Amino acid sequence: MSQQGYVAAPPYSQAQPGMGGYQGGFGGGPAQPLYGHYGGPPQAFAAPPAGMMKSPVSSAAGMPPPPASNQYNPNVQQNGAHPQRYPAPQAASVYGQPLQSPYNSMASMAPPPAQQLTNQMSSMNLGNYAPGPMQSPPPPTSSVQQPFQTSPPQAMGQPQMSPGPQSPHMSPQMSPQQSPMSGPPMGGPPMGGPPMGGPPMGGPPMGGPPMGGPPMGGTPMGGPQMTGPPMAGMGRPFPGPPGPGGFQQPGPGAAGPPGYPQQAGQFGGNMAGHQPGMPGAFPGAPGGMAGPPQKKLDPDSIPSITQVIEDDQVKRGGQVYSTNIRGQIPPLVTTDFTVQDQGNASPRFMRCTTYSLPCTADLAKQCQVPLASIIKPLANLPENETPLYVVNHGETGPIRCNRCKAYMCPYMQFIDGGRRYQCGFCNCVNEVPVFYFQHLDHMGRRVDFYERPELSLGSYEFVATLDYCKNNKPPNPPAYIFMIDVSYNNIKSGLVKLICDELKNLLEHLPSEEGVEASAIKVGFVTYNKVLHFYNVKSALAQPQMMVVSDTAEMFVPLLDGFLVNYQDSRAVISNLLDQIPDMFADTNESETVFVPVIQAGVEAFKAAECSGKLFIFQSSMPTAEAPGKLKNRDDKKLVNTDKEKTLFQPQKGVYEQLSKECVAQGCCVDLFLFPNQYMDIATMADVPSHTGGSVYKYNNFQVETDGEHFLRDLRKDVQKSIGFDAIMRVRTSTGFRATEFFGAIHMNNTTDIEMAAVDCDKALTVEFKHDDTLSEETGAHMQCALLYTTINGQRRLRIHNLSLNCSSQLSELYKSCETDSLINFFSKSACRAILNQPLKTVREILVNQTAHMLACYRKNCASPSAASQLILPDAMKVFPVYINSLMKTAPLVGSTELSTDDRAHQRLLIMGMGVEETQLLLYPRLTPLHNMDVSIKTHPAPVRCSEERLTDSGMFLLENGHSMFLWLGQAIPPDLVQNIFNLPSLAHLQGNMCALPELDNPLSNKVRAIINDLIEKRPNSMKLHIVRQKDKPEMVFRQFLVEDKGLHGGASYMDFLCYVHREIRQLLT
Ligand SMILES: [Zn+2]
Repeated sequence: MSQQGYVAAPPYSQAQPGMGGYQGGFGGGPAQPLYGHYGGPPQAFAAPPAGMMKSPVSSAAGMPPPPASNQYNPNVQQNGAHPQRYPAPQAASVYGQPLQSPYNSMASMAPPPAQQLTNQMSSMNLGNYAPGPMQSPPPPTSSVQQPFQTSPPQAMGQPQMSPGPQSPHMSPQMSPQQSPMSGPPMGGPPMGGPPMGGPPMGGPPMGGPPMGGPPMGGTPMGGPQMTGPPMAGMGRPFPGPPGPGGFQQPGPGAAGPPGYPQQAGQFGGNMAGHQPGMPGAFPGAPGGMAGPPQKKLDPDSIPSITQVIEDDQVKRGGQVYSTNIRGQIPPLVTTDFTVQDQGNASPRFMRCTTYSLPCTADLAKQCQVPLASIIKPLANLPENETPLYVVNHGETGPIRCNRCKAYMCPYMQFIDGGRRYQCGFCNCVNEVPVFYFQHLDHMGRRVDFYERPELSLGSYEFVATLDYCKNNKPPNPPAYIFMIDVSYNNIKSGLVKLICDELKNLLEHLPSEEGVEASAIKVGFVTYNKVLHFYNVKSALAQPQMMVVSDTAEMFVPLLDGFLVNYQDSRAVISNLLDQIPDMFADTNESETVFVPVIQAGVEAFKAAECSGKLFIFQSSMPTAEAPGKLKNRDDKKLVNTDKEKTLFQPQKGVYEQLSKECVAQGCCVDLFLFPNQYMDIATMADVPSHTGGSVYKYNNFQVETDGEHFLRDLRKDVQKSIGFDAIMRVRTSTGFRATEFFGAIHMNNTTDIEMAAVDCDKALTVEFKHDDTLSEETGAHMQCALLYTTINGQRRLRIHNLSLNCSSQLSELYKSCETDSLINFFSKSACRAILNQPLKTVREILVNQTAHMLACYRKNCASPSAASQLILPDAMKVFPVYINSLMKTAPLVGSTELSTDDRAHQRLLIMGMGVEETQLLLYPRLTPLHNMDVSIKTHPAPVRCSEERLTDSGMFLLENGHSMFLWLGQAIPPDLVQNIFNLPSLAHLQGNMCALPELDNPLSNKVRAIINDLIEKRPNSMKLHIVRQKDKPEMVFRQFLVEDKGLHGGASYMDFLCYVHREIRQLLT
């Protein structure tokens, strides 16, 4: 890898014909059999038919904002803000948001501590602030004054002070920055506190393509200076640290021959064989290192995610984001904003890795930036945003292009006085149906433009006609079947009683469509161990009746009438049943269970009732009873870090594979709640959920007292969340590109139709696009996602999301329009799929290679010339390396024998269904200080960087990543704080297993509990609160979430990783 040429290793994201999707990189063979991919040559659309218009279809970019009061809904709230107007849409199309002076956004920030300005940062700040070109030398340390050429290779990270033309620098120890185009350097933001500042320049910061505004220049970094053997911390997640003599020896004293390092020598031999938990790991102090002591690089000086999040919140928080501009980059997922749909789908439904596609396949290949869209088709909208309109065209159904079948949308161009329209996807000219005819106004727009959601909005729904229903019959409302493992473990732990008690309450709150009082969902109940028990809960019965099926080889449902019922009708019988179940099995000795027959029973029940629905399965052990799908323990830690490690993630085939297909065909979604005390083969057991839009929850060593509430919160959320069933989705694109890869809890029978037994509001699919022709800068690129599904009330609907992107022949446009959070979602999913087929080491190598490649390509093509020692990052991707490094340290990818195989498999599957918000939070947890917050302020205190350095002995910090939550207590925490939070005199009195805070009536306690409850409520998964004291053993678990630090199970610190990537980039550029 170290010797590869600039465009050597093709990234796995660029499929080549016949290479199975992950060319070169992730697996040569076909990806996963269950996931379709385009293996064949690109199939372009047929030649345009005669009579096709030559003029380009108008894009949404030119669409003016609709009248201030939205005609569809006078209640659209705009939070008091004006919808944004864009006087010159074309020019503004890259930066949809109003240009804002960086000073504004920085104004409120405290000036950096003087200390931070002095050393590494000095040059940059001086450069940015000085009225003239920066001349001041950096502090006189020997390292910084050495010109690069004579520096030893090890010094690559040392500050380089040569004035470079880079301008908007957010980077640490940067050379003085001066825009070549703007006279005196425009001030950058004060760099101390917010070290990475915002994009400072108002003017075109660099000499490349003219830039409309903010940050283009990239983020040059003077090369993080390394203090210690930087690679020692790099652990194993990526290819491997250079050995001693290279990177590791710090300081000028270790100088080798002048000039660039011999790359092969640096990296070659060391890559393969480094040891887990490298000896010596990361020295705690510079004193532990060889070589003369060296100034330590201020961690504040490398790009910070918390800063990026904060900057975006300052800049775009609280605003209305109007979707009327093509290729507009939305605020970050972490920013609070309100969306107003004006012709493109809300970013809550669709986000993209870049909002400016490269015009040609060659450009795409050159930069290796994946082109993908992350789609959460049923995403929840906040209350102040308008729910989607439902359009009903009666028996004729939605209007679609005759050729490509795209649905009527804002990208259809009406012509010929309104009698025909040209499709924005395939360019075919279609007749307008008579009933749909409307005159055009002087701008060529239909006069009913604002009255029809499908003409003016990015997202809306159509009522589907019978043509869109199975067997041309309207669907029945879906059903929920609760299937409870009543074997010994679950009875003994009290779980069965807990579930039964909760269901009585939960069934009162089954979801229903907005505005509909009673839920239409039918419910049914099964208990099982080695055999299955079905219950007749017909309302006419005084007592529920049980029917036992002990032949699990050929599963059938012994009763039809009375099994799936309306809860309201059968409330009394069901309540009776739920009271009885725990007692019925109280004396059981049965410890073996079946599993596949349980799911089969659910599918059979849905078949018989001609409905779709969801199975809620509560199981505590691996199915070892004699029955189809019987499993045995195949866990083998010896496989970790070998080429066979992938088998740990691969599900057992055969009956499970077949079962997934049957479930999808019937619209049977499977949710699994697992309560394991030991290995369960989650890779296999979760296979059906992961192909049916289901969720998998896991509670290790479940105890009612400490885990009960956590589980019940998950169960409530899961039962009540909005969901669609029996879904099929298709992503259409305008000519020149198309969807080729699909990642999610989905099933694909062919290369285009994404099948989901169900899709809920939290599930996201990631779709990758490839070119098959040249894209036009003028018309841009359109995509339309159409989801056909059955609502919770049993109505068949089509949900349409449209999005238009820019296209450019300039790579700088692409980099400028990238969204790091979406990129990282794509990489997370593609890597998690790749580990099914490839050694983890290879997957990690590809991640690092591709990261370096993407950044090198930016450097080569988009940044102005500068010293090779500078690390220059595109502004929109400046925190990308933190995420990639964190990704490689996640349980599935890290390759550690200390992690349980089931935990790793579970997290892998979770990631596959995640949206952009979830992967962002997972890979960069929020670490929030709570000891010094202002309890009178409503908002949450600002998070700090996820690193041990941010913890203070006297502090209290909350860390959460959407799946785990910790309250960390420093050992020197003041007693009054302990008193206020725990009602205890000191930390020593704290019980080890506490998982909730006592309800104390003081402002601090109220505030801390409010923050915790808010997060638990807000995240898709509930979280269990772990309370950890500094230096206690459980603190180790907490520390693995400090993703900027060296990984506990292997993996580099952020700083080391950045140095490593920088090195890779330099190799690519030589
Ligand atoms: Zn078409």
